[in-house]
Amino acid sequence: MTTATATPTKFETVIGVEVHVQLKTDAKLFCNSSTHFGADANTHTCPICLGYPGTLPVLNEKARDLAVKLGLALNCTIAPVSKFDRKHYFYPDLPKGYQISQFDQPLCENGFMDLSNGRRIGITRAHLEEDAGKLNHVGAEGLAGSLYSLVDLNRAGTPLLEVVSEPDLRSAEEAKEYMANLRNIVRYLGVCDGNLEEGSMRCDANVSIRPVGSTTFGTRTETKNMNSLRAIERAINFEVARQTKVLNEGGTITQETRLWNDATGETLPMRGKEAANDYRYFPEADLPPLRIDGEWLASVKQSLPELPAQRYDRLLNTIGLPAFESNLLTETKELGDYYDACLAITQGQPNLHKPIANWLLTDINGWLNTEKKDITEIALTPEHLVELVALLEANTIGSSVGKKLLPELLTNGGSPKALVEAKGLGQINDESALEAMVDEVIAKNPDNVAAYKAGKTKLIGFFVGQIMKASQGKANPEVINNILAKKLAE
Ligand SMILES: [Zn+2]
Repeated sequence: MTTATATPTKFETVIGVEVHVQLKTDAKLFCNSSTHFGADANTHTCPICLGYPGTLPVLNEKARDLAVKLGLALNCTIAPVSKFDRKHYFYPDLPKGYQISQFDQPLCENGFMDLSNGRRIGITRAHLEEDAGKLNHVGAEGLAGSLYSLVDLNRAGTPLLEVVSEPDLRSAEEAKEYMANLRNIVRYLGVCDGNLEEGSMRCDANVSIRPVGSTTFGTRTETKNMNSLRAIERAINFEVARQTKVLNEGGTITQETRLWNDATGETLPMRGKEAANDYRYFPEADLPPLRIDGEWLASVKQSLPELPAQRYDRLLNTIGLPAFESNLLTETKELGDYYDACLAITQGQPNLHKPIANWLLTDINGWLNTEKKDITEIALTPEHLVELVALLEANTIGSSVGKKLLPELLTNGGSPKALVEAKGLGQINDESALEAMVDEVIAKNPDNVAAYKAGKTKLIGFFVGQIMKASQGKANPEVINNILAKKLAE
């Protein structure tokens, strides 16, 4: 053990996360009650999820399928035989007095996820379990100070896959990236909507610190209630700073569950952590072992869609986009899908690949942010974005015209080519027409011409600007530049 010394000890951070992924099924894990959110309290219930004696749970095969897909995407071994267990605890949101989970024989084991810094994070296991209900405390924010509590069992029995990482994460940034990747993977697979804010993905972070070089673990705390990627990063950083201060002052860390408060930016103790054996796990006798057929498993593996890491690799190495753009186009599935639809249209025109990515990631993304919309809500089809970029690349229109037309195309759709023709916005590339414009601007600005000739060569920008203005952005700026440089040197 360490003792406080004059020089503060250098600590290493050790983090493991447990993530509850709510599987996107219509029905609950062991009954036919609906999983849809937002209904009146206790209307999505039945004798099974209300825990009536004598009722029998039946496994929802859709939930099993989604769990297997996610397990495979996380490089897990899928157990040919796994089983369900009862995890006992008493709380009013748990009608049976136990939760059906998987204890010693989980469905998925020994997976991993690679981070962008090259570190491989082990995934210990991923197991199926049912969610509990929800308590609504009346008269206060939480239980403390409330007058009474109402129980809503609509959520009881909702299928979850609990994904447990090894304590391999070494910083809040790594934990954030792990969660961002996991969220991306569940969205690519369509197994969960990945919404941290609404709780369809819930992350608990086990955080401890130990002196650098030590191989034994320090005492850990479990932090809950982080409802965004940013909150995960902030909460872990807070917890690391707090534990460091305690140890440097000669104190000891208490093993406990702590709640993150996003408003105050701190974690506070919730309750002492029950030891695992307090749950008195025992096999769920009402459910048969879960058997996975090898041939079926191979077909599921075959049918997995392209995952974020594979898309990134393809954009980087096959399409030849820079790493930064490849990453941005992978971050949301919908944006990547849109870009892929463009790629499918531009086969044989690889020169368009980069400009399309640039338009998507700069001008179109900027417009989406301003309008608070996402890529699925734009009227501009991939066909028409390709058409727009082709017009730009062929110098039929200039980029200022492209930027001017974009809001209209994004809002109303339609063919950029037709729009350019209708508005007479084609780029002026004709040298003699442009030369006339240059002559006019030179004649109108003798003072600036004199200043330019006296050495203020930066004034070239002024002349170009005047011509662009006069031509309503239609003059080809490159040609203008060349003519100007020649004429002003005379
Ligand atoms: Zn039910």
